[in-house]
Amino acid sequence: MAKIQMKTPLVEMDGDEMTRIIWKMIKDILIHPYIDLKSEYYDLGLPYRNETNDQVTIDSAEATKKYGVAVKCATITPNAARMPEYNLKEMWKSPNGTIRAALDGTVFRTPIIVKGITPYIPTWTKPITIARHAYGDVYKNTEMQVPANSKCELVCTDKDGNESREVIHTFGDTAGIIQGMHNTDKSIASFARSCFNFALDTKQDLWFATKDTISKKYDHRFKDIFAEIFEAEYKEKFDALGIEYFYTLIDDAVARVIRSEGGYIWACKNYDGDVMSDMVATAYGSLAMMTSVLVSPDGVYEYEAAHGTVQRHYYKHLKGEKTSTNSVATLFAWTGALRKRGELDELPGLMNFADCLEKATIQTIEEGVMTGDLYLLSSLSNKTKVDTEEFLVEVDKRLKALLA
Ligand code: NAP
Ligand code: MG
Repeated sequence: MAKIQMKTPLVEMDGDEMTRIIWKMIKDILIHPYIDLKSEYYDLGLPYRNETNDQVTIDSAEATKKYGVAVKCATITPNAARMPEYNLKEMWKSPNGTIRAALDGTVFRTPIIVKGITPYIPTWTKPITIARHAYGDVYKNTEMQVPANSKCELVCTDKDGNESREVIHTFGDTAGIIQGMHNTDKSIASFARSCFNFALDTKQDLWFATKDTISKKYDHRFKDIFAEIFEAEYKEKFDALGIEYFYTLIDDAVARVIRSEGGYIWACKNYDGDVMSDMVATAYGSLAMMTSVLVSPDGVYEYEAAHGTVQRHYYKHLKGEKTSTNSVATLFAWTGALRKRGELDELPGLMNFADCLEKATIQTIEEGVMTGDLYLLSSLSNKTKVDTEEFLVEVDKRLKALLA
């Protein structure tokens, strides 16, 4: 069979530990035999980030802006323990943070649903994609503990030196706490555009919720910016696709989400997204089955798995033991990126390959062949636990059949 040809390169960001091992297996078993892979390779593994003083991360983000599509392996965000382990010059920042800042992007996380692994909310038969606004609010706040009998105010000094003031609280005979936080119209608008674009891209409704009835200026600004951008730039496109932008209060949204069957994107303010993404991910069953894509407001896509480098499995691997690490989310990062590349370059063969590879992966699990994490969760009566590599070989058997 002739290999599928590509036009534009895919930006490939390699990573660390067990996911780096999986990365190579996926390429060797499932990509190279079928595709004449054109990729611009960046090694974001910690040793090379350290060697290049993290320049490689910045370069990979720039390449992503240039080519429009990237696929990323999980990477270590160094902490104190990693300093001696990798003999680091500095505690390098999270690559994901660097790339997100460079692309001004929003992260969308979607669970992969398979028969045999029932969400804790059994009515969630379709995925719920969470988009978290990853800038500002309480994550960039300023806080104080204040003594009793203090008067606390918000003061804004404009560029001409004019002051405007609002009293936060006048404390009586008790001490207390205050907090100042901010967001910017620009960041909120980027978030909104990323969400609207992703809804169009995936043909799903978009939900957004804040507490604008209580926060009449702060949260209301989010609501207004979303509404203005939607009306001006997206309404017609949504109508043409028959999808909807739906705004409601955050507490109403939570109630509706629980009652829903899934199948939409839920855009969340920073704190709501932090909390709700963990709740939704847990309810769907497994972090190893959660995909993630960073979407910029101008339509650049970076695909990855939501989980980390699976360090514990890597140490087993280093000792020569077989691991049973789940490669599904990393595989879906590859299929997401290949499909998007195919779409942008009008290569139906590449898009079809991505579809078949996803189908083969799901089929493998639904036929009872799975890694240890899923084996523990699956309700299938006839199931087999396989190791990391065996799973990919099983997927390949089914892929061959689907492509034939
Ligand atoms: P993790 O790699 O997500 O793994 C945590 C645990 O979850 C694992 O020990 C494993 O449980 C289970 N797990 C996660 N993914 C799995 C998979 N694919 N297959 C099977 N089990 C899986 O998180 P971590 O161990 O806390 O972090 C390790 C490193 O990853 C850290 O250096 C962190 O900085 C980095 N990280 C990177 C990203 C990213 O690049 N996007 C995201 C998060 C974390 P058992 O051990 O019980 O089997
Ligand atoms: Mg969280």
